[in-house]
Amino acid sequence: MSLNEFDVIKKYFTRSSTQCSVEKSVGDDCAILTPSPSKHLVMSMDTLVAGRHFPESASPYDIAMRALCTSVSDLAAMGAKPLWFTLGLTLPAVDEAWLQSFSDGLFSIADQYAMDLIGGDITQGALTITVQVHGELDRGQALCRDQAQVGDHVFVTGSLGDGAAALAMLQQQLSVSSEQADYLHARFYSPLPQIAAGLELVGIANAAIDISDGLLSDAQHIANASKVSIELQLESLPYQPLLADIEQQRMRQWMLSGGDDYQLLFTVSNKQLSAVQSLIDQGLLIATQIGTVCTGEPQVRCYFQGEYQPQQQSGYQHFAS
Ligand code: ADP
Ligand code: MG
Repeated sequence: MSLNEFDVIKKYFTRSSTQCSVEKSVGDDCAILTPSPSKHLVMSMDTLVAGRHFPESASPYDIAMRALCTSVSDLAAMGAKPLWFTLGLTLPAVDEAWLQSFSDGLFSIADQYAMDLIGGDITQGALTITVQVHGELDRGQALCRDQAQVGDHVFVTGSLGDGAAALAMLQQQLSVSSEQADYLHARFYSPLPQIAAGLELVGIANAAIDISDGLLSDAQHIANASKVSIELQLESLPYQPLLADIEQQRMRQWMLSGGDDYQLLFTVSNKQLSAVQSLIDQGLLIATQIGTVCTGEPQVRCYFQGEYQPQQQSGYQHFAS
């Protein structure tokens, strides 16, 4: 006999909460939570649609990890500590093997960040997953997009282009070694939210954003919000050494315009430069300086042996004509 909605919630999405801030979790009409009095509560929501944000053929374990990771990345970008999340699940049918694998993938990530699933909704329809994440940060300490200052240094964490290379691989447009395939698969489905980096950068960085739509597109968001111009030195863009054999031009384009990297782009004043360097030296932060914040029209200018015109300026946009 197939499970009904309430059986599904009980079997796959009910676990005892780990945090004392959770008074009531899955099971009642609402969750009851006690936020810390001295903190801001921050929230973000992301929806993934099958066939649009992940291949229809992806494993449920991978889909769940990706759904939670991409949302948690927004908390990282604000410098927040993850607390709880809710899950909106639209499923074509109740498939227990699918649900078990999805639930396992989901909690594998939730456990890494000590997050509690506190509620959600289940409906029938085309496979769609919505995750809302909640986190906290000290009052007035958020890393926002509108705080970049002229003279700031621009940094990016980790490496760029992995998300686009992974997508090309999944779409059979990039042939890879088995080692590269493993790396790219992991980067696509569990794109390591930079929570630790975000927390370290609180009080040090002026502005930050997570790179979900591509470096150029997300740098442009900082430029617009902060009303500054951003200059990027393309020879400095960090890429994963394992991908060094990918043709340079192609890789550069992916590093600039490919989405799904979920690294943090942040700006730091001259005064805080040594603090960032010290985090890097201690191994607490992996980051590369890639540019500077300048006066002028809100725009992103690229330099590579002179000024460089990337082929495609904007990241992915829904409803763009
Ligand atoms: P209601 O009808 O009162 O809105 P539901 O019947 O939709 O509540 O859900 C019952 C309980 O199960 C609620 O606590 C809700 O938050 C939780 N829940 C429903 N779907 C999910 C899910 N996908 N993941 C986690 N909790 C869920
Ligand atoms: Mg109710």
